[in-house]
Amino acid sequence: MCGIVGYIGSKNCVPILVEGLKRLEYRGYDSAGLGILSNGKSTIVKKKGKVSELEKIIDGKNLIASIGIGHTRWATHGLPNEINAHPHPNSDESILVIHNGIIENYRNLKTLLQKQGYEFKSETDTEVLAHLIDSFYKMGNTLFKSVRLALAEVEGTYGIAVLSKNEPDKIIIAKHGSPLVLGLGDKENFIASDINALIGHTTRVVYLEDGEVAEVYNDRFYTKTIQDEEIKKEVFEITMKLDAIDKNGFDTFMLKEIMEQPESVLNSMRGRLLFDEGTAKLGGLEEVIEKLSKAKRFIITACGTSWHSALVGEYMFEQFLRVPTEVEYASEFRYRNPIINSDDAIFFISQSGETADTLAAMKEAKRKGVLCLGICNAVGSTIARESDAGVYIHAGPEIGVASTKAFTSQLVVLALITLLIARKKDLSLIDGQNIVKEFLTIPEKVKKILLLNDQIEKIADEFKHVDNFLYLGRGYNFPVALEGALKLKEISYIHAEGYPAAEMKHGPIALVDENMPVIFIAPKDSTYDKIMSNIEEIKARKGKIIAIASESDDRIDKIVDYTIKVPDTIRMLMPILTVIPLQLLAYHIAIKKGLNVDQPRNLAKSVTVE
Ligand code: GLU
Repeated sequence: MCGIVGYIGSKNCVPILVEGLKRLEYRGYDSAGLGILSNGKSTIVKKKGKVSELEKIIDGKNLIASIGIGHTRWATHGLPNEINAHPHPNSDESILVIHNGIIENYRNLKTLLQKQGYEFKSETDTEVLAHLIDSFYKMGNTLFKSVRLALAEVEGTYGIAVLSKNEPDKIIIAKHGSPLVLGLGDKENFIASDINALIGHTTRVVYLEDGEVAEVYNDRFYTKTIQDEEIKKEVFEITMKLDAIDKNGFDTFMLKEIMEQPESVLNSMRGRLLFDEGTAKLGGLEEVIEKLSKAKRFIITACGTSWHSALVGEYMFEQFLRVPTEVEYASEFRYRNPIINSDDAIFFISQSGETADTLAAMKEAKRKGVLCLGICNAVGSTIARESDAGVYIHAGPEIGVASTKAFTSQLVVLALITLLIARKKDLSLIDGQNIVKEFLTIPEKVKKILLLNDQIEKIADEFKHVDNFLYLGRGYNFPVALEGALKLKEISYIHAEGYPAAEMKHGPIALVDENMPVIFIAPKDSTYDKIMSNIEEIKARKGKIIAIASESDDRIDKIVDYTIKVPDTIRMLMPILTVIPLQLLAYHIAIKKGLNVDQPRNLAKSVTVE
């Protein structure tokens, strides 16, 4: 998920690699490392924290080499610390590997390798690659072939770069699901996980495709598929300039993160859906699944955007599991001496895994001896470490203060948990398989919604001067109304309220007149007719209406002022789609008001104070 750089040529690679890693810092990461080859020796330097910290130790070492690889890690397996940072070597440090992504079958591979006598030093999934490649190398294969043979055994996503001190004239790279580019220079070649790291060095690049492996020398390269077929690669000219590299070409982190959602939701479900069994596989819950499926009550605690995903989770759990579910603000839960029973299960949702109130709520619940489960993005964070079990959302680093991709990934994970437990209970195989099928359509549907960006920007232009907004939805889309209103408040400083659509008649409708825009989240589900009546009520009071509606709905356009159409899906997954236009709308309104969306006033990304 994070950064890869590499160099082979006649210059000293160390400053080139450090500079390259700095150019990838915008992605967010938790540790960094370099691996180089010189005078028949391999050297690894790693450090937790920023690239500048790594640089400090490098400065004292006088490292010089003309071939090397560098990595910034964003932990997915194992704590962010020096041992788990990349490169990972084989036992005698003759082979060095850096890796972006997740090796899904690493447990099986690790057990097999341990049986062959391999010893593991880190907690990462990546380390299996170093030993697996080594096992093929020891059989007499070249490094290139050993990498291919190893990858044929691997399931998951990867961008990798591999060095061997026994073949110090080449870097082997490979890709599946994580980007990797090769930059061609004059008697020197570069490697990077995104072209930002190449700008200024070369304009000629080769994009590696999934399933391809390349052997890169200083003056040439060869590409094959993992299955040993030769392939010819096209060389592209790039025109990007250095000043465009911040935020991967986007103007803000927030827009970058909104636009990343097709990949981030896919990463949250990757390797976790089992079609044949019509269920989900969540390694982090394996040990507690029996207890979890017997829970008599679920409580979900969280703050802010995570609290909204918790509310969607309540609808999921109650619809599919028929288990009473309560959602509570962590800050309230922790101080009111909550009634907790031994057969409850409590979920704690936090993007950073460090949210002070959520952490304190978990400590209080743990003291009472109940099953505590974390749903976090940051691996190795306190909630992830201290909960009894849990699930990572794998959304990748989120830097914009207003949460976007973490929210949709939290929804994916809550739906996976629902599917897993429902199949343990009474959901049929066919129904389970239909849900799995539907899950798999979501990334493409998200992509389609993002194509509406220009349409949404135009709507934003009409409404940038208003002072108030009302967001209304029913059922699964009521929490989406709350989240849409929160996004607008956070970054545009416009007052916005979210309500269940029917509640409007009990108060907020008094505010409605021609100056009050109302956003309805109105996909075609079982509440559609009811929400249409609510739309009529607003219309009668001259309110301006924006509707988030189903693609198949041609009735709504005739009634409301603006419609934003999203593809259909099952009710449980609909919030993942309906929230995206609301993120974009808030974003464009804030930008049109000239505001800093990445760091809105008074807010912090990780709220570590109560
Ligand atoms: N899964 C690997 C790890 O946890 C790679 C993470 C990354 O993409 O940075 O070390």
